[in-house]
Amino acid sequence: MDLATTGTDIEKVIATHDQINQRLAEIARDVERDYEGRDLLLIGVLKGAVMTVADFARTLQRHVEMDWMAVSSYGSGTKSSGVVRILKDLDRDITNRHVLIVEDIVDTGLTLGWLKANLESRGAASVEILTMLRKPEAAKVDVDVKYVGFDIPTEFVVGYGLDFDEKYRNLDFIGVLAKHMYE
Ligand code: IMP
Repeated sequence: MDLATTGTDIEKVIATHDQINQRLAEIARDVERDYEGRDLLLIGVLKGAVMTVADFARTLQRHVEMDWMAVSSYGSGTKSSGVVRILKDLDRDITNRHVLIVEDIVDTGLTLGWLKANLESRGAASVEILTMLRKPEAAKVDVDVKYVGFDIPTEFVVGYGLDFDEKYRNLDFIGVLAKHMYE
């Protein structure tokens, strides 16, 4: 779904699909260099990271495996709860694997901090993080994010996998949700 079709729901565009793909290609070159000679397992965090994993994996010029996890963080509102629960676990053992977690957005960092520690405790050889978006709050927590698509202001964004109450995930761009949609 494109910007014209969303009407007044979106206040401002943060990144177009072209800008997203260009940034993912740049990150892919970094990842190819950083993981040269090592197997790589991408772990996408459902559902928000689906688009990022799909586009990122396709621009990677190397073999890669993929697995998925689903964790709960937000309810149906716009504030982080801090409560993390595994809704869907990995299909395979990750002992001695080089893992790259792919996330849609780091806000408070609570979800990722928990997830990284959880995967490390399973005996992964390394665990790094790639996120499409990062909000300023994330800088305050002690979670090391290696690859960042875009740093954005503290605003509620949707599209390209990110939802508000399960809607807007299928926008082909990332935009700020207009306040009249949730206030
Ligand atoms: P954190 O634990 O506060 O870092 O929250 C991370 C999760 O909250 C993300 O994976 C998203 O699912 C959700 N989230 C945080 N900010 C936004 C936003 O602006 N729009 C949509 N979802 C968000």
